[in-house]
Amino acid sequence: MSDYDLILVGAGHAHLGVLRRWALVERPKGRIALLNCATHAWYTGRLPGLLAERFAEDDCQVALEPLCRAAKVELIECVMSGMDADACILRLADGRSLQSQWLSLDVGAGLLSPPQSGDAMQVLATRPIDDFLAGWRQWQREPRRLAILGGTPGSVELALAIAGQVPNLALFCGGPLLPGQSLGLRLRALGYLRLCGVQVREHCPIGRIEDDWLLSGDEPVWRGRRLLLASGARAWPWLRAAGLACDTEGFVAIHDSLQSLSHPQIFAVGECATLRDVPRSLSRSSRQGRVLAGNLQAALHNQPLRLYRAPRQGLTLLASGDGGALLDWRGWSADGQFYGRCKDWLDQRFVRRHHLAD
Ligand SMILES: Cc1cc2nc3c(=O)[nH]c(=O)nc-3n(C[C@H](O)[C@H](O)[C@H](O)COP(=O)(O)OP(=O)(O)OC[C@H]3O[C@@H](n4cnc5c(N)ncnc54)[C@H](O)[C@@H]3O)c2cc1C
Repeated sequence: MSDYDLILVGAGHAHLGVLRRWALVERPKGRIALLNCATHAWYTGRLPGLLAERFAEDDCQVALEPLCRAAKVELIECVMSGMDADACILRLADGRSLQSQWLSLDVGAGLLSPPQSGDAMQVLATRPIDDFLAGWRQWQREPRRLAILGGTPGSVELALAIAGQVPNLALFCGGPLLPGQSLGLRLRALGYLRLCGVQVREHCPIGRIEDDWLLSGDEPVWRGRRLLLASGARAWPWLRAAGLACDTEGFVAIHDSLQSLSHPQIFAVGECATLRDVPRSLSRSSRQGRVLAGNLQAALHNQPLRLYRAPRQGLTLLASGDGGALLDWRGWSADGQFYGRCKDWLDQRFVRRHHLAD
């Protein structure tokens, strides 16, 4: 068993910000490690451009080795298979166990998938991203009609990015398209999807897959052999199994200081965590990274913690697949190539800021 002062689990967006800050400003004392499945982290803001063949893979990834070296943080490339929250012990897929005084979780989430009977339908989840891209490249060799499940910003970007590459693309949303977004953005997104020939079915929850049919309730609504999952986030089961207090969906319940409600020695941020009364899409802003970096430093140095204040609904930029973007800022919406250039600039800046030379 190896002992650490702090282990960051998962190279999510907030942890990338923490590492960058420690590399450039000040790193807390102690033995610190980052545990992640791979030696790179994907920046999903750039994935639609990769799928639309506007970017290369390197443009969409952050290399973790130089970032960790600059932050003097040990990089452990392995999947975490389980955790004991009381003892702060992580169990790794290769059989090792790691113990740490403090832990910080930024491990994202899985995807909800309807139950399937028969194997006539090939189902490809958009996460983990490495597996998704490998599967997508295989599908691209022989393009066929397909359906996407999900009404999230990610599914809209995905549909617009691949609409020109597959025949008869269909998008199924359990509720309205882009729930929680302004009416202006939703209407613009619907307009773009229709222009690209995407058949959008709102309020059509897919309950199960039977052979090559998608069923909503008992009604067969689509027939085909390829399904892309980009639907709602599913909490990793090991979070609850670890003994952490979770919300009803199994995401880690956290306090404003970003600490677990049940285990103050464990922080949790990003998509794997729920800050009470705050929609999860707002709680996972890049500002979490800034507060988390300060709070981890304070925790290691025995100092008081700061509280995180979730921002009001900020800027939303959705790639429209043609180099442009749809924009929403506090209910004001617009679209066009200019906003696409703004999005490219912001996304490129994020990736470049985390590319630290040795
Ligand atoms: C094409 C696409 C477009 C999208 N567009 C938008 C958008 O416009 N707006 C929006 O809000 N969201 C969008 N999303 C969703 C967005 O990507 C996620 O909400 C976001 O990535 C979550 O960030 P995170 O920092 O919480 O975790 P992630 O970025 O998912 O990072 C989690 C990290 O933890 C690692 N990890 C996970 N489990 C383990 C484990 N057991 N052991 C070790 N390491 C582990 C993973 O390898 C990963 O590096 C999009 C998604 C896709 C696929």
